[in-house]
Amino acid sequence: MSAAEPGTAADQISAMGDRHDIGPLAYVHEQHRVRVVFREGSLRQVPEEVERLGWPRVLLIGGQPPQERVGDDLAESLGSLLAHRIVNVRQHVPLEQAQQATEEARRQQVDGLVALGGGSAVGLAKAIALESGLPILAVPTTYAGSEMTPVWGRTDSGTKVTGRSERVRPVVVVYDVDLTLDLPAGLTAVSALNALAHCVEASYAADASPVTALIARAGAQSLCSALPAAVRDGGDRSARERLLHGASLAGAALGAASMGVHHAACHVLGGMFDLPHAETHAVVLPYAVAFNSAAARASLEELSHAIGVLPDDYAGALWDLGREVGAPPSLAALGLTQRDADAVADRLAARSPANPRPVDLTGARKLLAAALTGEHPSPRSFTSYVS
Ligand code: NAD
Repeated sequence: MSAAEPGTAADQISAMGDRHDIGPLAYVHEQHRVRVVFREGSLRQVPEEVERLGWPRVLLIGGQPPQERVGDDLAESLGSLLAHRIVNVRQHVPLEQAQQATEEARRQQVDGLVALGGGSAVGLAKAIALESGLPILAVPTTYAGSEMTPVWGRTDSGTKVTGRSERVRPVVVVYDVDLTLDLPAGLTAVSALNALAHCVEASYAADASPVTALIARAGAQSLCSALPAAVRDGGDRSARERLLHGASLAGAALGAASMGVHHAACHVLGGMFDLPHAETHAVVLPYAVAFNSAAARASLEELSHAIGVLPDDYAGALWDLGREVGAPPSLAALGLTQRDADAVADRLAARSPANPRPVDLTGARKLLAAALTGEHPSPRSFTSYVS
């Protein structure tokens, strides 16, 4: 084949390839099997999916207020396939609830778990799956993305423990945009920012393959482009679909890469102070990005292209997006004190999470202090994070 002539279409395409250079192509990427059904109205398809899986008896988890009608509809349509239902699900999967639910699943001798709801319902199903080996069909109603990951979490005595196991990765995920149309604007905003955090950390994780980075960028683009419209008008189906699709990609990316300082800080905050999960992610994300801005420059540059901002502005752009969509402005607004923030920083540094730059005590304290007050993560403030 002859070399491309300058100025020809082939030359331009080749130049585009250069701009998206992803470095030497040497990587390991594991592709796991999951069936994704993404279709408006697909809640009605769940019984058919359960039959396809060959599960005669299922445990339904979820459908608590304000989603009781959806839960009741699903329970009714499952008919004789439904062995038992757990309605009330607590956040951060308390160990006690996980143990009781696992016991119930055993008592009912079910063949599979159907989780309907946000990350909490999926999280409880995962806790049961981890102990029992039962497979999961997930019907997500937020943008947490947990349904696409092998990551489980459990909280015991103020400590949130997370891990990975293929036992907990759902085998089927049913996305129905109709289930998200009533998600309140506030929850829409923070949940989508939670998903965006998955994309950000997956894009700069040392073990992320180019395939994972590509999925993460596509997820970030979908989420960022749709979020303001979905917050302005919750009934905007097109925006809702792009958010749900972005959340699915975000989960897939998170499931294929290790988590960095952002997720570690949020897990410590959730475990120690029971802070609301998605809100905490929404607050911390710009500061985690600022913290990693120099060490993860190439990945953050790619993400900045995806949303059309300059790389040095990425942390600030995320902060602006948070303000635009009404996310909580600071950890202080979630009830955290300076003393709490210091305690979190101590534990975060002790954990020493895998991250583009090492998380030492000075860096952790600066990150937490900035997130506590909610200051704008300007380039000047984030260079000062470099300890
Ligand atoms: P959530 O599941 O706790 O839901 C938040 C609230 O929103 C609940 O009151 C719920 O009833 C309500 N809700 C859910 N969907 C709704 C809808 N469509 N309309 C109206 N209300 C609705 O919150 P979340 O942020 O989705 O999940 C948080 C949990 O998920 C945390 O425990 C977190 O650790 C976990 N998580 C896990 C992973 C993973 O990969 N393992 C990823 C992300 C989150």
